[in-house]
Amino acid sequence: MLRLGRGLYRHRWLLTRRTVQIVILLAFIVAIPGYGKIAEGNLASSLWFGELKLTDPFILLQTFFAGSTIALPALIGALIVGGFYAFLAGRLYCSWVCPINLITDLAYWLRKRLHIKGNMSLSRSLRYWVLALALALSFLGGTLAWEMINPITRFQRELVWFSFSGAMLLGALFLFDLLVSRRAWCGHLCPVGAFYGLLGRYGRLKVTATPTESCDTVGCSRCVTVCPEPHVLAPVVSKQAQSVTSGDCTRCGACLDECHEGTLSMKLDLVGMVTRKAGK
Ligand code: SF4
Ligand code: SF4
Repeated sequence: MLRLGRGLYRHRWLLTRRTVQIVILLAFIVAIPGYGKIAEGNLASSLWFGELKLTDPFILLQTFFAGSTIALPALIGALIVGGFYAFLAGRLYCSWVCPINLITDLAYWLRKRLHIKGNMSLSRSLRYWVLALALALSFLGGTLAWEMINPITRFQRELVWFSFSGAMLLGALFLFDLLVSRRAWCGHLCPVGAFYGLLGRYGRLKVTATPTESCDTVGCSRCVTVCPEPHVLAPVVSKQAQSVTSGDCTRCGACLDECHEGTLSMKLDLVGMVTRKAGK
């Protein structure tokens, strides 16, 4: 029993965010007797509790570039979502909400278990080019270009209406991450993750280090090895910074689960926001 408790504690961040991801997915699928579904639609555009309309701000941006009319409820919904992620951290969306993260994390887990070493090197900035391309195509085609293939929307559709083409796309994404390039999709290619990373660049929820003697002694860097975006921890591990400031950090908490020295914590840094403003 004690071992089970310790095991759960050691994976507390992973278990918590998996629970959140699955609850959000189920909210779109499962109807509560006498009430119905908690959420209608999908992550691109949804209605929660029959009242609250939420819109993915990246969808709104594509709509704008496509020259389509933006309805006021969609604009308000995007401001709510955008404001939330801009304040806390944009890529919280990746590790706490996006269902594709379940697939890519599984591919990475399996990659490690199978000791697959082959790794096609991709630039992390590729995702920004894909983001720019998606917006350019929306502008030129007068349509929401990324939505035609967006695996996130496809995933949600697949859960309700299975389609061969959707399953093929998701399968290809999984196999690419598993066999070809480590963390290829979420870490290098996805424009949605890139968009949220930019949106939450100055988010106040931060992985923060409290340097301890034991950390110096152990010098393990285990946090870096489990991080899906390892470059974000480099300044902290090398003691150049006390907290992770990169917008690429997904706030997944993997580093916190792995840090047995208690050096890392997730903090809401409101003081930094005030000093940054004052310093301007
Ligand atoms: S990078 Fe893209 S696919 Fe991956 S978790 Fe983030 S939004 Fe989802
Ligand atoms: S620094 Fe920690 S919270 Fe941020 S992406 Fe890496 S493992 Fe996740």
